[in-house]
Amino acid sequence: MDKEVPTYRGRFAPSPTGPLHFGSLVAAVGSFLEARAQGGAWLLRIEDLDRPRCVPGAEDDIRRTLDALGLHPDGEVLRQSTRDEAYAAALDQLDRLGKIYGCACTRREIADSALAGIDGPVYPGSCRRGLPQGRAARAWRVRCDGANIAFADRLQGRISHNLELEIGDFVLKRADGLYAYQLAVVVDDAAQGITDIVRGADLLHSTTRQIHLQQLLGLPVPRYAHLPVAVNAKGEKLSKQTLAAAVDVREPAPLLNRVLKFLGQPQIEDCDTRDLAAFWPAAINGWRLERVPHSRSPPAPD
Ligand code: GLU
Repeated sequence: MDKEVPTYRGRFAPSPTGPLHFGSLVAAVGSFLEARAQGGAWLLRIEDLDRPRCVPGAEDDIRRTLDALGLHPDGEVLRQSTRDEAYAAALDQLDRLGKIYGCACTRREIADSALAGIDGPVYPGSCRRGLPQGRAARAWRVRCDGANIAFADRLQGRISHNLELEIGDFVLKRADGLYAYQLAVVVDDAAQGITDIVRGADLLHSTTRQIHLQQLLGLPVPRYAHLPVAVNAKGEKLSKQTLAAAVDVREPAPLLNRVLKFLGQPQIEDCDTRDLAAFWPAAINGWRLERVPHSRSPPAPD
């Protein structure tokens, strides 16, 4: 019997830390077009995990903007703030496997003794064999001993990391009691049945950590495609921190054409600047993932 091929399920997973800017719109459009071009589903997940960073009203704002641009998700919207039980269950599972440990180290202590890795300091493993006397666990870390993780990104090619040396045992539950992004994203991608992840290349170096967790938890590993990241004139990633402007949806077609151009796709000519009825079918028809520039960030716009 033929092995059942899962139907494509993609997703867009914005953090409601501010309105949608051009950079997050690139991830929304890229993931949407690839899903639709494959005849698949496109889900929305609101990553409101890091409560202190969430901005009141940002979720509504993002959803209104997606709606105004004709980016309508399938199914229920999943909100990470409702998912603590699922994250706790995953952490428990890892605990039973002996794969996590409590860590008493402060940020300061780690900074003082760590070597620089590909994404901040590499945790030196001080608590790996047990907490120092008289110290209590602040955070929970996953063991990475011997984890060499490689994957073939559909745009960025083969990515491979020795997690122990390049990242270090990383945090799954933070000192402030919140679950970490790396754990939540893996649990939620599996719960939503996501087969394909299309997102910005700023997360490329998180992917091997996520695959490590998927393997430990016995979850399927999705396919990944990391899109180039939009930068401002100073070469900084567009984000709330770099004061990226909210997208202006008054003339959706020219805005979306700018996104298509950024993603190396043909422009949709002769369509009403405000009416998207003809825009999306043409964009879906013209979409080829392989035309997206195979780079992590393009030169800053002039
Ligand atoms: N919530 C993350 C962000 O807004 C995206 C996470 C993901 O796509 O895996 O940057």
